[in-house]
Amino acid sequence: MKLERLLQSQGFGSRKGCRLLIQAGRLTVAGEPWLDPELDLDETGWCFEVDGEPWQYRERVYLALHKPAGVECSRTPQHHASVFGLLPLPLRERGVQCVGRLDQDTTGLLLLSDDGSFIHGLASPRRHVSKCYHAAVRHPLDASQLAALREGVQLHDEPAPLAALGAEALDERLLALTIDQGKYHQVKRMVAAAGNRVEALHRVALGGLVLGEGGLADLAPGQWRYLERDALLALG
Ligand code: URA
Repeated sequence: MKLERLLQSQGFGSRKGCRLLIQAGRLTVAGEPWLDPELDLDETGWCFEVDGEPWQYRERVYLALHKPAGVECSRTPQHHASVFGLLPLPLRERGVQCVGRLDQDTTGLLLLSDDGSFIHGLASPRRHVSKCYHAAVRHPLDASQLAALREGVQLHDEPAPLAALGAEALDERLLALTIDQGKYHQVKRMVAAAGNRVEALHRVALGGLVLGEGGLADLAPGQWRYLERDALLALG
């Protein structure tokens, strides 16, 4: 691939913009400027720097982000900052999207990608990827609430009751809930239907991909990292 096309594919602007960037000496490889926009090269695994910032060529990107509270999973947020503001500009420019959404006040594991078929496949109801949440609730949890969540609760716009794969009290007011659908405000509405109220919600895991100890332990709120193929297999 030609150098200018390659940079364009990685989100560094238009072809013309990339040409100018290269000619200005802002693209370096191991610290040395590469100045020929027409240079043809094999992009696989290619590492480079733009303005001193290191990058690696990736045909598609898969990201795990620890979503903080107070950001919206939208490019055109209504009331809060956009989660995309947490990513570097080239990743935003290459059309990365959220794989499913979390509410603005929900924290935890969020996946993003620019691979349309991956996003589609994972969001498909047929895929049944489990999602584990920790919910701080207003009232003490009791056995009848946990049983209702496991057996199924009726939400007003759903044709049939929705049942959790797992519902466990981790503490008097801390619920671990695992579901395999991704309906609008699903956890908050299920907990309300079971007679309690979510005060804070955190997504701990998607399939076998866990945020925290034994998984993506070093991702602090607001941080993101690339996922490699093995991690994607853990999604189940
Ligand atoms: N369920 C909710 O109610 N909110 C979320 O953000 C995710 C799941």
